[in-house]
Amino acid sequence: MLQQVMTKPGEIIFKEVPIPEPGEHQVLVKIMDIGICGSDIHVYHGEHPFTSYPVTQGHEVSGAIAKLGAKVEGLQIGQKVTIEPQVYCNTCYPCRHGKYNLCEELKVMGFQTTGTASEFFAVDASKVTPIPEEMSFEEGAMIEPLAVAVHGVKQVGDVTGMNLVVIGAGPIGNLVAQAAKGMGAAKVMITDVSDLRLEKARECGIDLCVNTMKQDFGTAMLEAFGPDKADVIYDCAGNNITMGQAIKHARKGSIIVLVAVFAQMAEVDLAVANDHELDLKSTMMYRHEDYLDAIALVKDERVQLRPLISQTFAFQDYLKAYQYIDNNRETTMKVIIHVQE
Ligand SMILES: [Zn+2]
Ligand SMILES: [Zn+2]
Repeated sequence: MLQQVMTKPGEIIFKEVPIPEPGEHQVLVKIMDIGICGSDIHVYHGEHPFTSYPVTQGHEVSGAIAKLGAKVEGLQIGQKVTIEPQVYCNTCYPCRHGKYNLCEELKVMGFQTTGTASEFFAVDASKVTPIPEEMSFEEGAMIEPLAVAVHGVKQVGDVTGMNLVVIGAGPIGNLVAQAAKGMGAAKVMITDVSDLRLEKARECGIDLCVNTMKQDFGTAMLEAFGPDKADVIYDCAGNNITMGQAIKHARKGSIIVLVAVFAQMAEVDLAVANDHELDLKSTMMYRHEDYLDAIALVKDERVQLRPLISQTFAFQDYLKAYQYIDNNRETTMKVIIHVQE
């Protein structure tokens, strides 16, 4: 079978390797689709602080079970699945308390361990989650980023009836806004500086889409929600400007969730955060229950994934996919690699 290997930033080769044999508690997955996300792009550019080369990528993935290990129960050959890419120790404090997404030794497939970008992938059955038969493999590959969004939304508990603001209408911001609506939020306002991304959010059913190059963030929030403003602001852009907007304009005593990864050291006004008793939260990846919620949101048509697919590429064109993303930064939402037909 073929296996993708990024040998150094900007260079991808395909190695011919034997199809792996699943262990007793493993399954062999015929890999169908792989999504490319911001973290993969950082690896491509040599800007991912925790990844070394060579590395096989692929953590947003769907496929079908091709073979079952001797002791695997509850899964069937041919079943459509997605894979949870976290590798954790099971013994550290967070692991012992159910928060394995925060494992002290956390490794993620495609970054610190071998990713799924090969024609077949052997993986522990516990990391495999079935997706509905009617779900496409493309959608299946996008359950991972949706799980990121679901986990982020849930940082404030139940959002039913809440008024929310999402800053940043890229793939994760879009999915946070959609997931929040799908999970019962009353009204969601999303902001960005790109009309194209805001148009995409509108297409996905987000109530209010505001371009903050054209309209002041604080004014837009007052217009949207009145003097009580929003209950939560999710920062899905992660820079000094957006976190600055959130801290400056959040209702006193309300919650800000940092969803995006800050690219540099933050310079934000913590004195205001203090004075307004703002609850600053953050969020890291997801756990199994978030995968289940993400799958249910798509199955029940409360979240739409298809509008986010910008372009698809064949397996052998992996490099072209990155070149396409670099050349179409603003318009690209999600690029999918079709590993097999
Ligand atoms: Zn990702
Ligand atoms: Zn651990």
